Amino acid sequence: MILNKDIKSLKTIIDQAQKPLIITHYNPDGDAIGSALAFYHYLIKKGKDPVVVTPNDYPEFLHWMPGNDKVIVYKRNCGTVLNHLKDADVIFALDFNDPDRTNGLEEYLKEAPGKKVLIDHHPEPSDFADLFFSHTEYSSTAELIYKVIEELGDANLIDKTIGECLYTGIMTDTGSFNYNSSYPYTYYVVSKLLELGVNKDRIYWNVYDNYSIDRMRLLGYCLNKKMEVFPEYHAAYIAITKEELKEFNFAPGDSEGFVNYPLSIKGIFFTAIFIEKDKHVKISFRSKGKFPTNKFAEEHFNGGGHVNASGGYSYESLDNTLMKFKELLEDFKEELNNAM
Ligand code: 5GP
Ligand code: MN
Repeated sequence: MILNKDIKSLKTIIDQAQKPLIITHYNPDGDAIGSALAFYHYLIKKGKDPVVVTPNDYPEFLHWMPGNDKVIVYKRNCGTVLNHLKDADVIFALDFNDPDRTNGLEEYLKEAPGKKVLIDHHPEPSDFADLFFSHTEYSSTAELIYKVIEELGDANLIDKTIGECLYTGIMTDTGSFNYNSSYPYTYYVVSKLLELGVNKDRIYWNVYDNYSIDRMRLLGYCLNKKMEVFPEYHAAYIAITKEELKEFNFAPGDSEGFVNYPLSIKGIFFTAIFIEKDKHVKISFRSKGKFPTNKFAEEHFNGGGHVNASGGYSYESLDNTLMKFKELLEDFKEELNNAM
């Protein structure tokens, strides 16, 4: 439940904001960028001049979004971003629950003098903000932003531009209304966005039908040659080495969605993808049913996230990481067998 007193505080914060800044998590996805740009356009309508910051670059299939050219990427503009963080009187932290999720900006974020407002749908936020809108019952941060703007009494300010950003966040965080999308409110918001003229088909094409040939070939290769299936654990994984990424001219975002594919195998409801980077292995986990991938990621792979979608890191070699994962499957055999 969103509390009246929190909405009142937010109203005051927005009214008084001189230099608002919006920041997302590292490797921002459709929900992070959609939420940030929706909130950017909303603040513009409130007469503000907000700055939008992401820790690093994001995939090209999100570059069509209105306001994309306003986003300042820390990795490419360190000094500018640090100055903005120091100057900001309000910082909106969107779609993440812990400063660590900014991968490199955490100390600057924690020390920034501005008031911090968190708007997010991940569980168990750490105590770094002054005001929290932390609600796991929303499909996406984008949906929660709609709710917050509605509660602020500003639903009338949500136009097609804001709607396109919000729709992108909801669509991507639900896998096009496949998961995290069983609450009626999601469809209420979607119906409102469609009334504004948001073109859902075009957004789908922009996001999902915009891949490179290399990406499709990499997907085919992964499913054909790299997928390991463990029916006895109801689990499967895909692991990609640095060399393979190079061979397929890997670009950021190319492996987006790969982790979901093995879930469509009968009897498989826990999947992982391991991507070898220079100094670590980036991992994504997905599940169907009760198996809490976020707890698994947090306890064993330096990560976290949602019950059915999470991620983490390993600082061991890819081979050792996979060995550890397979051993863990055996440890979790009972839990996995009772997860559906
Ligand atoms: P993805 O697998 O698409 O990168 O992320 C899926 C979900 O897990 C997202 O909600 C994301 O916020 C969370 N997540 C991904 N990687 C990490 C991580 O390293 N740490 C934490 N705490 N959450 C992560
Ligand atoms: Mn999200």
